[in-house]
Amino acid sequence: MASRVIPVEDFDLVIFGGTGDLARRKILPGLYRRFCSGQMPETARIIGAARSEHDTAEFRQIVRDAIREFSKKNECDDALIGTFLERLHYVQVDAKGEDGWGDLRDLMRKDVVKAYYFSVAPSLFGDLAERLQAHGIADEDARIVVEKPFGRDLASAKKLNQDLAKHFDETQIYRIDHYLGKETVQNLMAVRFGNILFEPLWNSQYVDHIQITVAETVGVGGRGEYYDKSGAMRDMVQNHLMQLLCLIAMEPPSRFDPDAVRDEKLKVIRALEPIDHHHIVRGQYDATETEPSYREDAGDPRSRTESFIALRCMISNWRWAGTPFYLRTGKKLKARASEIAVVFKDAPHSIFGEEAGRHANVLSIRLQPNEGMTLKVTIKEPGPGGMRLIDVPLDMSFADALGEEADDIPDAYERLIMDVIRGNQTLFMRGDEVQAAWAWTDPLIESWEARSDVPKLYDAYSSGPEDAAMMLHREGRRWREIKE
Ligand code: NAD
Repeated sequence: MASRVIPVEDFDLVIFGGTGDLARRKILPGLYRRFCSGQMPETARIIGAARSEHDTAEFRQIVRDAIREFSKKNECDDALIGTFLERLHYVQVDAKGEDGWGDLRDLMRKDVVKAYYFSVAPSLFGDLAERLQAHGIADEDARIVVEKPFGRDLASAKKLNQDLAKHFDETQIYRIDHYLGKETVQNLMAVRFGNILFEPLWNSQYVDHIQITVAETVGVGGRGEYYDKSGAMRDMVQNHLMQLLCLIAMEPPSRFDPDAVRDEKLKVIRALEPIDHHHIVRGQYDATETEPSYREDAGDPRSRTESFIALRCMISNWRWAGTPFYLRTGKKLKARASEIAVVFKDAPHSIFGEEAGRHANVLSIRLQPNEGMTLKVTIKEPGPGGMRLIDVPLDMSFADALGEEADDIPDAYERLIMDVIRGNQTLFMRGDEVQAAWAWTDPLIESWEARSDVPKLYDAYSSGPEDAAMMLHREGRRWREIKE
């Protein structure tokens, strides 16, 4: 299978916050990989723009170090890194003042795609948008890319949307959710809508329930104070888990086109039922002999912010009425693993008798590590001794199917940045989607705050609080094991 890399149009990409953590860890090493793959035109340029005092030579050194630190060893080739760095420039600008904006305007080329990545705190989004227009730097085809967190509630998300809308049209705004850039997430759409096998079964008649798990092994560590203002619901559920839920639950869009896909996702969010508190479990990790508890990490002995949350969501529409979507995410869990599992119902009648047991088909879609999909099917256990049934996985993992080319699969950030240059918004959140997600999330948060709900303690590196297991147990179900 030959990999096809189609170069994008020539571009000038400005990274505001180009010296920051996200730019150094993800954006710049990702761009280097796209350069190595031949996807970046030779004349394309990347312009770091930040408050810190540097010249272009120093910025190139920062990026060289970042590529060395955050890329795989076999990707680091001195000559290639050197050629890539020639595409880099640096301008010192202040988002809140006038310094540097004239220099940036002079540096930008006409007649190429212009993209502006806002890799800075959201409080600066409005200032950047305003100054880009005031200084005549952004044309009507220019794109801006913004990072999470996109608000902390409906009111602040609306305000951010309004601030951006004063200066940019919705078709120019790319709200990044890197979960949507993952190969498997797009493959989920290919599997659902490119095959006839799955879609007829994709409803409450055949699906027993769906589980979405995003488990991390890290705690909140050094950024505890920052995290404590948000918690798992705001940090993970409102954006990443809800986006995954939308892709699983949405109706087939008429075309694979940005607005057709996003219209369908929006309908799912609007069909989500409110959740009562019996179907929400919040937790905080406990201390180990050597590691601090969540509250110690957060620096607040009375913190009520959750480092873990599990929810049962119901969708009020014809396709999904009665099928629970169980979502959970947390810090310091037993493994780093993100997965969506579609658990089908048992066959209506077993011709093999009770002793053959129950064998439900499960489609599991793994986002990390080892992106791929597996379909659990039931077959006869080979050999003599009668009809005994066993479950085997039909493995659709990319690494096996694509061989060495699996290494060339772009990571989420790389893919999404190239989509920005191509002008394809399909994998980016639209403003109304973000607001609808907050409109559903806000009352849940308000309700536990009003009850002064205290999160349940859970053992570090476990599967989360016992109550989360009980929530499914009461309904005759169980969580899938969290494993790498
Ligand atoms: P950071 O603090 O490491 O970097 C911030 C950057 O912004 C620096 O380059 C700094 O020079 C620049 N900056 C600050 N004030 C400025 C001003 N007035 N004018 C111009 N430049 C200014 O932050 P980060 O971790 O890279 O995060 C950037 C954004 O990405 C934030 O919105 C964050 O929430 C989001 N984000 C970060 C991560 C991550 O892994 N770091 C993940 C998801 C989202």
